[in-house]
Amino acid sequence: GRKFFVGGNWKCNGNTEEVKKIVASLNAAQVPSQDVVEVVVSPPYVFLPLVKESLRSDFHIAAQNCWVKKGGAYTGEVSAEMLVDLNVPWVILGHSERRALLNESSEFVGDKVAYALSKGLKVIACIGETLEQREAGTTVDVVASQTKAIAEKISDWTNVVLAYEPVWAIGTGKVASPAQAQEVHVELRKWLKANVNADVAASTRIIYGGSVNGGNCKDLASQPDIDGFLVGGASLKPEFIDIIKSAE
Ligand code: 13P
Repeated sequence: GRKFFVGGNWKCNGNTEEVKKIVASLNAAQVPSQDVVEVVVSPPYVFLPLVKESLRSDFHIAAQNCWVKKGGAYTGEVSAEMLVDLNVPWVILGHSERRALLNESSEFVGDKVAYALSKGLKVIACIGETLEQREAGTTVDVVASQTKAIAEKISDWTNVVLAYEPVWAIGTGKVASPAQAQEVHVELRKWLKANVNADVAASTRIIYGGSVNGGNCKDLASQPDIDGFLVGGASLKPEFIDIIKSAE
């Protein structure tokens, strides 16, 4: 089976005091065991060492991005090698905010995923359609082409979690309905089966992100092809614990 996965993407939020508070609250939480749910929190780069040294050992950490190749003269970037050096096991790549605001193309994201995997990082790869694309009826084409750009560059999907995050649902309070999310996840699995292989389609975790909160997580989690969540705003709040508990 696919182990339930709950990621907390803190985005560009927090300061030292707030980070310490969030970590203390996570450390005190009673949650299902690691056999049931994999929990990964993703603070901004500068807080990774603090979170790494203070967070309970059954929760893991992710960076929110990394550079597309070996480090060097790339001012402002952080390389996959540096994350490995800091024992950061996971990285989020291709988040829609970076695609939209920093012009990351699907091809660039595919290259990043491939490079990060080659260095031993595990990757949360984000895909998702805009409202305009959904209304035009192109949702499945969009997420398939974003997935294809990754699939063309990698052969081993073991260390990939695919995060379906419809752009219209991110930070808007407009969560996808369980049926809407399930439908896209099924289409993604079909795509993987047809274009990668049946084993990858069956074993790759596909998680949902976009306005997930303590109130809507249970219904979403009950869908057979929703294998967890990537949580933004609610990952900074105590309700993140409720979202982790929706694994059971
Ligand atoms: P929100 O949960 O704030 O909608 O953000 C989702 C997201 O972008 C997670 O990566």
